[in-house]
Amino acid sequence: TIEARDVTFSFGETQALRGASLAVEAGEIVAVMGPSGSGKSTLLHCLAGILVPDSGEVRFGDVRLDTLGEAERSALRRDRFGFVFQFGQLVPELTAAENVALPLLLGGVRRGPALRSARAWFERLGLGGLEHRRSGELSGGQAQRVALARGLVARPQVLFADEPTGALDSLTGEEVMDLLVDTAREQGTTVVLVTHEPRVAAYADREVVVRDGRVNAPAGVGS
Ligand code: ATP
Ligand code: MG
Repeated sequence: TIEARDVTFSFGETQALRGASLAVEAGEIVAVMGPSGSGKSTLLHCLAGILVPDSGEVRFGDVRLDTLGEAERSALRRDRFGFVFQFGQLVPELTAAENVALPLLLGGVRRGPALRSARAWFERLGLGGLEHRRSGELSGGQAQRVALARGLVARPQVLFADEPTGALDSLTGEEVMDLLVDTAREQGTTVVLVTHEPRVAAYADREVVVRDGRVNAPAGVGS
């Protein structure tokens, strides 16, 4: 389980989270919706231990992320969490396979085995033959599939995805979501998925809505 309890966070004068609570069960896929500026990305960053809340708690299983030191938090992120963002954020000079291998290399896997594991993803992603292409020379949809593979290659317990289809047309977005959900289910990965798009949120087991820095059930549910 990954959980935020009554979390607040401010960027200077801007209060981005005002008592946000969300618990995501192991293996669950939760879509986080809500208007622009409502605090979705900030909540994701607090859950992932990238930002430390001003108050409230963040728990990953028995571990309190909000009281861990930076070194332990970053080790935990590296070992247990995977990330996919709106614009793949691949390293353009590296090949597609090297980009996918990065989390394994950072986790101490040797280059040969890391690249072999990375390459194994390409057929399944429909990217066979592109392993050696520099990632700066991929199309948007190809790059996003590579970014997804990079997020999942180390078999994270939790995948944090912030608008993973936001830069894609709807067909390509659905292909990326099919891959994301199939792989997460197969690996038992918990997914926290931030999205504006109802069609993308429909892939999740459950939706929540962030408004004004707080988490609500979607309108019409539970009332
Ligand atoms: P979007 O759908 O546009 O991505 P969001 O729901 O993810 O929006 P956040 O990025 O969490 O929203 O932002 C919440 C609030 O915090 C907004 O008012 C935003 O302007 C502010 N904010 C976010 N990041 C920063 C930052 N680095 N510095 C200052 N203010 C920030
Ligand atoms: Mg955002």
